[in-house]
Amino acid sequence: MANSIEDLEGRRHFDYIVIGCGGIGSGALYWLAKRAGHNVLGLEKFDLGHYNGGSQDVSRIIRLSYTKDKYVRLTPHTFTAWEEVERESGMQLVYKPGGLMLGDRTKVGVYLDRYAECMERNNIPFERWDNQQLMRRYPQFTVGPDMEALYQKDGGIVDAAMGNSLHIQLAQGRGAKVLDNCPVNRIARAQNGQLEVSTPAGNFTCKRVIVAAGAWINHVISSIGCHVPVYVTEENVTYFGSPHVKEFTKDKFPIFMYSSPERDIYALPVHAISGTKIGIDARGYLVSGDKRTWTPDPHKLQIVQDVLKKMCPKFLGPVMQTKTCLYTMTPDRDFLVDTAARAGFPDVVVCCGAGHAYKFASLLGKILSEMAVDGGTQYDISGFSWDREALTNPDFKPLIFMGYKSKM
Ligand SMILES: Cc1cc2nc3c(=O)[nH]c(=O)nc-3n(C[C@H](O)[C@H](O)[C@H](O)COP(=O)(O)OP(=O)(O)OC[C@H]3O[C@@H](n4cnc5c(N)ncnc54)[C@H](O)[C@@H]3O)c2cc1C
Repeated sequence: MANSIEDLEGRRHFDYIVIGCGGIGSGALYWLAKRAGHNVLGLEKFDLGHYNGGSQDVSRIIRLSYTKDKYVRLTPHTFTAWEEVERESGMQLVYKPGGLMLGDRTKVGVYLDRYAECMERNNIPFERWDNQQLMRRYPQFTVGPDMEALYQKDGGIVDAAMGNSLHIQLAQGRGAKVLDNCPVNRIARAQNGQLEVSTPAGNFTCKRVIVAAGAWINHVISSIGCHVPVYVTEENVTYFGSPHVKEFTKDKFPIFMYSSPERDIYALPVHAISGTKIGIDARGYLVSGDKRTWTPDPHKLQIVQDVLKKMCPKFLGPVMQTKTCLYTMTPDRDFLVDTAARAGFPDVVVCCGAGHAYKFASLLGKILSEMAVDGGTQYDISGFSWDREALTNPDFKPLIFMGYKSKM
């Protein structure tokens, strides 16, 4: 699907260059190409669709529910952005089986309240259920009287593999070019004041760069004197070959997130692969983009099996596969969406998705494209700026390994 260097027909200038063509970068290519067509170039370090970063696999949770207003305000627009890609491609990307936030009221009640209050403030409809209501609606659950559920009907799945490839195909359809196996080594100020982007395939110049390099963000932006404190972890997701698969199809079972003081667990109904899917949020070991184990962690598997045995036993079955995948998290787990003006590069737009961005990938792409083309965006991204304490104070205590408490 990538273009060859010959497809560029000797061109060395594109108005807009996107560095990194994972979830967010592919979104930026799609939205940029709507505005600037053949003046857009995407550069990707690995093969398109590779498994080294954060956006692989067939499914991610998409939901309107968050505990912070800055996300809930944006979540309806994530659905709208994906709808546009669906309309243009004729392909379904988002599925809405419904979404549940679950927790033991006596242990994480404050947290559930925060979700509820935030959705109320932002006019997101939801229902609050006790354990009986939950088991009536979804008999797959076997939970005790302390379990409480928040149900939001629009929660569900966005197909990540499909989203990435459609973003790129549609961008190419508007004339954008995408080179893969083409790592950017350096961004610099060109003599004519434009930007120069260096790759093994030679140098390119442009007016604006968007950096969406995931776990490699600092490799790219260090060349312009910038650094973002990020924690890269290797996370696990497991698919179970449940023999009760019929009870876990998207029309029968929602996505759910189960919070306990120890950890947050998320689970998805069957989609594209015939197994049920489950993972623990942000509990992986610290790694880097280039140095990781690729090895499933048996301890995490045991944890999710123990939890499921109690609360949703039919979800279980033989392990079909465990995949590893990278989270790239800022110390406060909030996104970074800003320019590198602080280093004298207001023409370089930088994004970090903080380990929960796939649902926003198309919207973030739109936001980044507006920042590149218009110099600003219509969406409220004031909570994602570079000058916040978590990114500027080296003594900031990271919130990321605290489970649900980090999201309070
Ligand atoms: C197991 C798991 C489950 C998740 N679940 C959810 C979920 O349910 N819902 C949700 O919303 N989010 C979820 N996320 C988070 C979400 O998937 C990520 O936040 C998002 O996909 C990150 O996208 P990205 O484009 O920033 O990173 P990536 O997809 O990693 O893309 C970065 C790209 O930049 C490229 N690159 C790096 N350096 C260079 C360079 N020098 N030159 C050129 N290219 C370069 C990389 O090769 C890569 O392709 C999950 C993540 C994981 C790992």
